[in-house]
Amino acid sequence: MKALRTLAPLFWKYKGRMIAGVIFILLTNIFAVFAPALIGEGVNTLRDAYTTYLSPESTNAFAQPSTLELPQILSEVARFTGLSSEWDGNVESAEDVYRLVALIAIFQALLYMIVYFIKGIFLFLTRQTIIINSRLMEFDLKERIYGHYQKLDAQFYKKNDTGDLMNRISEDVSKVRMFLGPAVMYSINLFVLIIIVVSVMVSIDLKLTLFALLPLPLMSIGIYFISSKINRLSDAVASQQSDLSSFVQQHISGIRVLQSYHREFKAATRFEKESDKYKEKALNLVKVESMFIPLVILLVGLSTVLTVYVGGMQVINGKLELGHIFQFIFYVNILTWPFASVGWVTSLVQKAEASMARILNFLDSKPSISDSSEDFTDPTKNSGLTFNNVSYTYPDTGIEALKNISFDLKPGQTIAITGKTGSGKSTVAMLCMRLMDPNTGEITLDGIELPRWPLQKLRSKTGYVPQDVFLFSDTIENNISFGKSSSDSNIDEEIVESAQLAAVHNDIINLENGYKTILGERGVNLSGGQKQRISIARAVIRKPRLLILDDCLSAVDTNTEAHILGSLAKLNEKNPDLSTLMVSHRISTIKHADQILVIDNGELIESGTHQELLALGGLYSQMNTRQQTKDETI
Ligand code: ADP
Ligand code: MG
Repeated sequence: MKALRTLAPLFWKYKGRMIAGVIFILLTNIFAVFAPALIGEGVNTLRDAYTTYLSPESTNAFAQPSTLELPQILSEVARFTGLSSEWDGNVESAEDVYRLVALIAIFQALLYMIVYFIKGIFLFLTRQTIIINSRLMEFDLKERIYGHYQKLDAQFYKKNDTGDLMNRISEDVSKVRMFLGPAVMYSINLFVLIIIVVSVMVSIDLKLTLFALLPLPLMSIGIYFISSKINRLSDAVASQQSDLSSFVQQHISGIRVLQSYHREFKAATRFEKESDKYKEKALNLVKVESMFIPLVILLVGLSTVLTVYVGGMQVINGKLELGHIFQFIFYVNILTWPFASVGWVTSLVQKAEASMARILNFLDSKPSISDSSEDFTDPTKNSGLTFNNVSYTYPDTGIEALKNISFDLKPGQTIAITGKTGSGKSTVAMLCMRLMDPNTGEITLDGIELPRWPLQKLRSKTGYVPQDVFLFSDTIENNISFGKSSSDSNIDEEIVESAQLAAVHNDIINLENGYKTILGERGVNLSGGQKQRISIARAVIRKPRLLILDDCLSAVDTNTEAHILGSLAKLNEKNPDLSTLMVSHRISTIKHADQILVIDNGELIESGTHQELLALGGLYSQMNTRQQTKDETI
């Protein structure tokens, strides 16, 4: 229960509703216990009427008219039912006895209904308080987890499986909610009910109480074992279900490959095999589940038999009234579900404890990129971005991606980084964005080290186009304006302007729904180049001071590339402070840069302008020659 104990502050937060809930449980149970007492009283009255007027020992009962005066309330009922017009209320014949009995029965039934109705209202209020409470706490917990998701860095997401992380906020939270709501409610209910019912039962007859309750703990234990087994089996069913659906999902997404390789038959055979496994597991579950209700009925039946037998003996011995046996049978029924729920609640609590432990473990994971907490005053001068002997090794693979890289990107300048794939270009881009921190060396913006910048401020100054384009399943306009606050009044114009700058405006307006086109799985699929350009529009709309373009023109044809480069040059003219870091392995993209850095295996091996590097005759000029001959052959 260690993990679940950390939820105490949440209970405290909603204590008002919680206390109300407990009071409602108490009231519900008081009325629940009162109703069977009415039945017991009813039976006793019937028996009295019988022994007084109808049994063989009472043959002369009608000789003298009874002095019985109907109580006020019963006369009311008699008038209400029309009985009083033909009956004066005196018991003078067997018929009158039946009238009296009918009157009492109607009265008891009415009372019984009223009591149950009131009980129903309190039960409703109990659920309205405790279950709503659990939803509110669930909401708080989800918010905390989501907030933490957003703080964690790229390395964390690399290490952890997405599906597994999703489970924290869905599966695990819902298991904890089952504890916060139903488990808490049933536990309090059982506790209150046992105290009330058992004390009423004991006050009637101790021996009968013991016999009637004997089978119920057995039921709790039995149900605990069955429900643990059910949990285990349903986990197996759920995991097979998820295997099955990811299998189907893969094959639906890849249906074109599947069909063009003519693999339908093979896929169908595998599907059948997986389905078979699912069926087997589901049947196992059903077999165990089918024991649940019979067990309850068996033990409740046993309890009833014991009550009737032991109670009957007590009645014969004159120690108990007949009506009390009926009352006891009702009490056993009332106690059945709460006792059954003990087993169920125990397994809920166990599951919730495990889930909560996983959630806490997740919330404890520290982001390696933490926000600066120092006081920060905006730098007065704009001195651009510098890398000073920066090295970086990826912690999970141990790959030394960058070794002692230094450069100086002045405001208004464009620096290009080129090199073979895997040489470390994207690593430089990610370090600029502070998606991770260098192992040694320092990176500064405007003379201030990146870790000392508040993240929000740092990132508001940068526009980043990552190498692998990611667009949300949303409209094109929302994708472009993603990094802008929606309060901007002329946002629509800005969206068009940035799309034009990224040379994607014409593509967009040619789509049926223009800027309102939905992208992604359920929407339109754009070409790689179009996606890259939307991603550029998304970066430039922020009017960044530092623009980082990571190989973002690789899927764009040379004409479009020239257009975009022209726009970027214009952007630079309009905004003389803009520094651009452009990563590309294509010489045509970068040859106009103020400075070109060539990195190989994480080391800076050449730097200079296009002309200087060609004159140097190193890797750069080799790449240039190779790319030119390739272009010619195309
Ligand atoms: P480039 O962008 O020049 O192709 P990268 O900067 O992406 O190169 O990668 C540099 C080296 O770091 C490569 O050897 C690559 O395998 C490795 N690397 C890149 N990203 C990761 C990562 N997230 N985890 C581990 N190793 C990585
Ligand atoms: Mg790269």
